[in-house]
Amino acid sequence: MFARTVISRALPRQARSYATQQPPKPAGKPINNAQLFFGALIGSAAVMTAIQQFTGTDAHAAKEHVKEEVKKIANPNAEPALKGDGKWVPLKLASVEDVTPTTKKFRFELPESDQVSGLKITSAVLTKFKPEGKEKFTLRPYTPVNDESDVGHLDLLVKKYPGGPMSTHIHSLQPGQVLEFKGPLPKYPYSANMHEQLTLIAGGTGIAPMYQLIRAVFNNPEDKTAVTLVLGNVSEDEILLKKELDHLATTYPRRFTVKYLLDKAAKDEGWATTGYVTKEILKTVLPEPGSKNQKIFVCGPPGMYAAVSGGKVSPTDQGDLTGILKELGYTKEDVFKF
Ligand SMILES: Cc1cc2nc3c(=O)[nH]c(=O)nc-3n(C[C@H](O)[C@H](O)[C@H](O)COP(=O)(O)OP(=O)(O)OC[C@H]3O[C@@H](n4cnc5c(N)ncnc54)[C@H](O)[C@@H]3O)c2cc1C
Repeated sequence: MFARTVISRALPRQARSYATQQPPKPAGKPINNAQLFFGALIGSAAVMTAIQQFTGTDAHAAKEHVKEEVKKIANPNAEPALKGDGKWVPLKLASVEDVTPTTKKFRFELPESDQVSGLKITSAVLTKFKPEGKEKFTLRPYTPVNDESDVGHLDLLVKKYPGGPMSTHIHSLQPGQVLEFKGPLPKYPYSANMHEQLTLIAGGTGIAPMYQLIRAVFNNPEDKTAVTLVLGNVSEDEILLKKELDHLATTYPRRFTVKYLLDKAAKDEGWATTGYVTKEILKTVLPEPGSKNQKIFVCGPPGMYAAVSGGKVSPTDQGDLTGILKELGYTKEDVFKF
């Protein structure tokens, strides 16, 4: 918000007599993106000086705030960090945060502080490293959980699996060390209102690609899609992004519903169901097959795929639809497996 104010103060204003009228063309050369960007920076310097003069002892805090806001402005001329060109890009780990007993949030710095990651809705990144004494690289996909428009960084939520090479490696990284990334790896090419209803069936870290879709729907005021999330976890302290999901459910009570499933019963009753994803549960949340333009997304541990939809054959082959969704009468075209 502040950044927008800074930009608007930095730009010359043009008069318009009514809302639908085209704005008058500026005299001389049109303002290009780079001029806009640097205009914003110059504008922000002027604002900083003004803040210093008028706010006395708060000036330092205000100046730092402005600096932080300016950092969030993507340079429209900067190329994204990941260009989909098949090249590996080493990204430096900036910080690590504990999220659950087994999951941490890893913030990686993009090469330039004013560039975006290059992720699209929906897509993932591929990571690689060579375990000591091994010939081959270990490769694993992850879905960043921060906004695609964020500049300067990319955030991964990574759960550590005992004996799992990549998750153990990422959990061993210290700030300053690097991990190699490639991408974006295109997944489902979602666009606003392409479906009336999305049902997202996720287990554990399978929430990461679902959260990308959820953000795409609810960050876009034009998108009117209804979304139901069925999220399974072992225990309540393992639920990722619960605060964000509950906030969305409160903000959009008619369009966003979350159904929490827990292997181990929750401490307080009422907000979660104990047990795995079952046919009975899915029947209560899914629209009838063929009743509306809907899409069902699945992402979770291998056991969940086997029960709900059947697994993928490969990253590019969705495989047949089997399991509960097939038994309920849905078709392969109704379902996307991340
Ligand atoms: C599109 C996509 C996006 C993903 N995004 C994320 C993400 O944001 N965060 C994240 O932590 N992981 C994510 N994953 C899973 C990730 O790619 C790795 O599979 C996971 O980190 C384990 O890798 P590993 O090398 O440590 O262990 P592996 O050797 O691959 O697996 C170790 C053990 O864990 C089991 N396992 C693997 N993946 C899962 C899973 N998702 N749930 C439950 N058990 C599993 C395996 O069956 C095996 O028993 C994503 C996967 C896909 C396909």
